[in-house]
Amino acid sequence: MKCIKAKPEKREQVEARVKASECLICGNPGKLRRGQCPSCYGRFRRRLALRPKAERLALERRAIREGLILAVQQVRAIRDDDPFAGL
Ligand SMILES: [Zn+2]
Repeated sequence: MKCIKAKPEKREQVEARVKASECLICGNPGKLRRGQCPSCYGRFRRRLALRPKAERLALERRAIREGLILAVQQVRAIRDDDPFAGL
């Protein structure tokens, strides 16, 4: 599967936030899940659950493109600064 990423104008901000362990939504530092603090991640999951199943993937992709949440594959790549991640 192709790795979805934030659009170019958002990428720098996303990487800076993740490296600083700051939430992509509210900027609060702490333990992140897919780039979000527990309260923002919980809100995103609830928002997703309200949508019909068929729309969830599209919503998640839009959120990733907007730099609001990390794609699953992005999390490890950014955190580890893995030089092979983009191959
Ligand atoms: Zn947050």
